[in-house]
Amino acid sequence: MAEENEFKLGADPTVNYPIQVQYCGNCSLPIEYCEYYPEYEKCKQWLERNLPTEFEKMKLVEDGVSDLGTGDDEKKRQKRGGKGMLKTKKKEDVPKLVTVSRAPRGKKKSVTVVTGLSTFDIDLKVAAKFFGSKFACGSSVTGDDEIVIQGDVKDDLFDVIPDKWPQIDEDSIDDLGDQKR
Ligand SMILES: [Zn+2]
Repeated sequence: MAEENEFKLGADPTVNYPIQVQYCGNCSLPIEYCEYYPEYEKCKQWLERNLPTEFEKMKLVEDGVSDLGTGDDEKKRQKRGGKGMLKTKKKEDVPKLVTVSRAPRGKKKSVTVVTGLSTFDIDLKVAAKFFGSKFACGSSVTGDDEIVIQGDVKDDLFDVIPDKWPQIDEDSIDDLGDQKR
């Protein structure tokens, strides 16, 4: 009977069998492989809808990697109401810093990306609206702390932001320059 203990091929008592493998409804792979799938963005959307817990786990892993390309997804995500959760998660020890950068949009156009305003407790919707009317262009909240302004107004922001929100001085605004896609 000693052998039986050595060869633990049977059920591990700490694991509930059958082991539940979560398969992705988008790419039909086990969800841990989704990131290798070209339609990973779609996978994530599927996950968010169908396996929100797994989705949150994935998000935590990815956090900190801010990719402008996911801006649209961020938007959808917010609309679907995951916002409250994201906000409380982020607010803890975030240093107060606003960043501005320019990103290409289309062949000739650029947009300006502003992040970090919520570290100063600024309502992003209000801020986006303000930028929109200030620069007479489109401006929208695209992430839990990201605003995209349709136009190259990056340099102006160093005056406009401290002007509008005196608690942010120019030194708290970091110029990230141009983002490459
Ligand atoms: Zn997938």
